[in-house]
Amino acid sequence: MEEFDVVIGLEIHAELKTKTKVFCSCKNEFGAKPNENTCPVCTGMPGALPIINKRAVELCIKAGLCFGCTISHYAVMERKNYFYPDLAKAYQISQMVYPICVGGEITLKDGKVKRLNRIHLEEDAGKLTHISRATGTLIDYNRGGTPLIEIVTEPDFTSPEEVDEFLKRVRESLVYADIADCKMEEGGMRCDVNLSLKPKGSTILGTRTEMKNLNSFKSVTRAIEYEIKRQKEILLDGGKIIQETRKWDDAKGKNMSMRSKEDSQDYRYFPDPDILPISITDDDIESIKSEMPVLPQKRREIYVEKYGLPEYDAQILTSSKYISDYFETCLKIYDSPKKISNWIMGDLLKLVKGREEFTFPIEEKYLCEIIKMVEERLINKNVGLQLMNDVIETGKSPAVLAKENNLIVVISEEEILKILNAFKEENSKVVQDYKVQPEKVIGFIVGHVMKSTGGKANPAIVKELIKKIF
Ligand code: ADP
Ligand code: MG
Ligand code: ZN
Repeated sequence: MEEFDVVIGLEIHAELKTKTKVFCSCKNEFGAKPNENTCPVCTGMPGALPIINKRAVELCIKAGLCFGCTISHYAVMERKNYFYPDLAKAYQISQMVYPICVGGEITLKDGKVKRLNRIHLEEDAGKLTHISRATGTLIDYNRGGTPLIEIVTEPDFTSPEEVDEFLKRVRESLVYADIADCKMEEGGMRCDVNLSLKPKGSTILGTRTEMKNLNSFKSVTRAIEYEIKRQKEILLDGGKIIQETRKWDDAKGKNMSMRSKEDSQDYRYFPDPDILPISITDDDIESIKSEMPVLPQKRREIYVEKYGLPEYDAQILTSSKYISDYFETCLKIYDSPKKISNWIMGDLLKLVKGREEFTFPIEEKYLCEIIKMVEERLINKNVGLQLMNDVIETGKSPAVLAKENNLIVVISEEEILKILNAFKEENSKVVQDYKVQPEKVIGFIVGHVMKSTGGKANPAIVKELIKKIF
């Protein structure tokens, strides 16, 4: 890539987590029987009138808040006219001139800022299944009318790596904020890649192609790599890029021309006369703000800077909101970030390995109790792990189980301290000797503690404590 700059802009669609569809009250769910969740509105019957789902508008605003967009006070739903059998009305209700969110940005790890152009609300289309020439095509309108947000970026990306990081950031934020599940394998998040090349350093953008509906991170990367190579070869050969939509075939690892690219004026957008303009007040925005969780990016910053965790730990602990919330609850109980992190990353995650959705099988307070026992060296790590398994199996508390099974063979630091302090008060001569020649008397003091505890103290800890307080 010596002689060209790569320019990429993204259009990302995500299905919103609402109970019902965006312009009717049919259920918004994945996996129902074909055409089970349909009505006159979402099958485009003439004369059927849409309503608008308030929650969908709120979730679109919430998405805007995730990425620092300006939230519009006035937004309009418009009709985007085109015919395709998965869209029974022959127009999609979308947004053009007055989207709900404008601007915004995401800063990548290396500090580069990638700008959003807008986030708007629209409806999804139905699903076509092509059987064969003879049998024809099946249409399922269940997905028709599912609320979508479309995130449009500026043409700010220069490599598949940047795109990959950006998409992952978008997905984790939307999932954390409970806006969308972004299950790419179910089509819950899809990405269109617009890509062009220009002579290195030039400020004029080249002609772009668009690859639609890429539905995995891997295929986005591969599709971009392929398209860069394809365009480069054409340009080096003296050819011209045609503005068109190209279909990425993941199995074949290449793309094909699908249709020449339509311009927005071809769609004859106009405000939908059946849906009133949306008015959004500052109070509306404030109340949605109050629903916002701390986003993963911010959490990672706090984990590294405030809790002193390695970047690696912070990444894994924030890999889901559930894990991150669990970790933070533990911290409130036992303020020892690295210790808790080690247990979660090493031991708890092992228990749920390979599962996509999970909850840890032990309550935060019980885990913390066990960690504390190990830290205070009342039990060793292996006994701690066994104790954790027992808690999971029996549901009993660690304290009860430890007692029942006689796990605690040493006494706590607290108890040792009590004995040492009493000893100090009663033996001023030994204290003085210790100050002069510690190594001569330390054995004597340890011996005293061992005797008074019936040998149940850990001599190493006793020594440490003597050094601390004498
Ligand atoms: P549409 O594709 O619906 O016509 P736009 O023209 O607004 O919408 O562009 C869609 C996407 O294409 C945006 O992400 C934008 O950044 C990107 N884009 C526009 N021009 C170029 C270009 N020359 N090269 C690469 N990406 C581009
Ligand atoms: Mg487009
Ligand atoms: Zn419906």
